[in-house]
Amino acid sequence: MRIVLLGPPGAGKGTQASRISDTYQIPHISTGDIFRANMKNETPLGLKAKEYMNNGQLVPDSLVIDMVSDRLQQEDVKKADYGYLLDGFPRTVAQAESLDEINKNNDGGLNFVINLEVPFDILIDRISGRRICPVCQATYHISNNKPKLDGICDLDGAKLFQREDDQEETVKNRIKVYQDQTEPLIDYYKDSGILVNINGLQHMDDVFTDIKKILDGAN
Ligand code: ADP
Ligand code: AMP
Ligand code: ZN
Repeated sequence: MRIVLLGPPGAGKGTQASRISDTYQIPHISTGDIFRANMKNETPLGLKAKEYMNNGQLVPDSLVIDMVSDRLQQEDVKKADYGYLLDGFPRTVAQAESLDEINKNNDGGLNFVINLEVPFDILIDRISGRRICPVCQATYHISNNKPKLDGICDLDGAKLFQREDDQEETVKNRIKVYQDQTEPLIDYYKDSGILVNINGLQHMDDVFTDIKKILDGAN
């Protein structure tokens, strides 16, 4: 299965992506996670991406597209029958067009574009309360999705941290960037018949139930 998760920052894409990837055994590819790993390791790509990310801007298309194109050649994607779950990509029309091109060259188009709908006023709270595990990337929230022990990952005991770009000022910028550059993708996919809107305001378990219904073809 080839799936794209769409939605504004904080909509719950990463949260749902982990569940989908575990349940359906599809590689979860988060461009944000890949950039953060590159930043941490101070690779040339990470150094190029850092300033854009910390300002809440998009990394330039050329860098992102080459990175995703390489990632989609890797063994785990091939093993899943050219299957993947993209989280945070595409974010511009140019990226969506490139993805179509890459898919054409691999004889496999997208099966689902899942759009998580969450009103903008909720996003600030979700993002400013988000905490991440530096070891396994698990995502928590200080009130909606608390770890068992305050500030500690349930899975590996690591100390949780707040992303640098999750500060309130940067978040506002990211939401604006989403409206300007990413929201048009809803129109881009509208006529394709593969776009599904999901109410992302529900409890995360109910969001996942809705997604499963779609992926299992029950709807
Ligand atoms: P995205 O990947 O779209 O930026 P995340 O999955 O990281 O979003 O979720 C953003 C924050 O909101 C996290 O702290 C997460 O725990 C929390 N969250 C995710 N889904 C829900 C939900 N359905 N209801 C309440 N909080 C949620
Ligand atoms: P995310 O983890 O998806 O919230 O992404 C964090 C940041 O990484 C974004 O604010 C961008 O700066 C950068 N980024 C991630 N994915 C993309 C993309 N597809 N295109 C451009 N920039 C991206
Ligand atoms: Zn962890």
